[in-house]
Amino acid sequence: MITKPKGTIDVVKEDALLWNYVNYVVDDMMKSYNYEFIRTPIFEASELYHRTVGNTSDIVKKETYDFKDKGNRDLTLRPEGTAGVVRSYLENKEYASPDTKKYYYNGTMYRYERPQAGRLREFTQFGVEVLGSNDPAIDAEVISLQYHILEALHISNLQVNINSLGDGESRLNYKDALIKYLEPHIKDLCEDCQERFKTNPLRILDCKVDADSDILKNAPKTIDYLTKEAKERFDTVLKYLDILDIDYEVNPKIVRGLDYYDHTVFEIVSLDNEETRQSVLGGGGRYNKLIKELGGPDSYGIGFACGIDRIIALMKDIDLYKDIQREIDCYVMYVSEEEKLHALDIVQNLRLNGVVTETDSLNKGLKGQFKEADRLNAKFLLILNNEDLKRGLVNVKDNHTKEEEAVDISEIVEYIIGNL
Ligand code: AMP
Repeated sequence: MITKPKGTIDVVKEDALLWNYVNYVVDDMMKSYNYEFIRTPIFEASELYHRTVGNTSDIVKKETYDFKDKGNRDLTLRPEGTAGVVRSYLENKEYASPDTKKYYYNGTMYRYERPQAGRLREFTQFGVEVLGSNDPAIDAEVISLQYHILEALHISNLQVNINSLGDGESRLNYKDALIKYLEPHIKDLCEDCQERFKTNPLRILDCKVDADSDILKNAPKTIDYLTKEAKERFDTVLKYLDILDIDYEVNPKIVRGLDYYDHTVFEIVSLDNEETRQSVLGGGGRYNKLIKELGGPDSYGIGFACGIDRIIALMKDIDLYKDIQREIDCYVMYVSEEEKLHALDIVQNLRLNGVVTETDSLNKGLKGQFKEADRLNAKFLLILNNEDLKRGLVNVKDNHTKEEEAVDISEIVEYIIGNL
């Protein structure tokens, strides 16, 4: 038997219901915040990720799915969403727009990671990118949007961990201090960190292996090296978050895994499963240098990404999915071919009027059809029989109260809609 590739999942049964529910809530909240949907290719020129995510990041060094197509082009399955959205913004000259562009996306991402709980090779993220504005209120808006999507999914106990990397000057000052601090300890860190020390020391703070070591715990903090302007900017973001009533904690450990961040960086965690890495439901940050880096004008950007697979795993862990059940409005039952002709017509009529309707497709007897209607949690049963049909009537049974009523065939749709 052919099985699914390692690190991928099938979204089926209650996971599929949750999947649709999460997407529905995401779309709804994105609309309220006035974000426009964008879809970019699943593969892009490999160079895009080398220029944006950065050659020294774990993602590009070890985790991308790279391939050559038949025309010998170097392509990469997208490991994240920001680079593609910014590429599209530039390619379509959207920066010429006088407005702030606020995009949201939702799609699969690919990273060749070691599969484990909460870490897949194909996973799905929804996220936003806001391009063209450097207003600290946008930083607060993006964080609030992510927070409120999770809250709308009834995930409580959320905490935003926030930090600032500052501007270019702050980052340089910090990098110097970090190198000085780490130099005497470097041999005690993991092999990857020893390599990171040479290529990108900031990344060491993000290391999963050394996370709990005293060396990292006592490392200098980015917020102590911010320039006056960067510090003021960060304080303003925090003030706006207070106004928006978002719970946050300034956490110097948050530096984020990608090369392109500056100023505000944040992660949102569920305190319900804090002990696992899986508790990080999403994160993001500002990337003011990225647009220029990709050949665009000097501009501004900020975004976040949230993992849907991880959200669904959490919703199941904390039993949030109990209330979400598959259910239909009507199940239409028949036995004879003559009854079936009426059934087909009634089913179509109900469906086209937005009533969720199912009927038999396995030639089951009435008993089997009753059972199937129960399995599907049908609210109403329409039990067709020739006698009633000749008089222009259909027997409608409320499957919860068990009450039955003969309804005029021409009034079925109104009757069902009126009683749902
Ligand atoms: P990142 O793009 O690494 O900042 O990740 C943002 C969010 O995407 C994480 O908080 C997770 O919810 C999700 N995510 C990232 N990598 C994976 C993965 N390998 N498998 C499942 N979800 C992931």
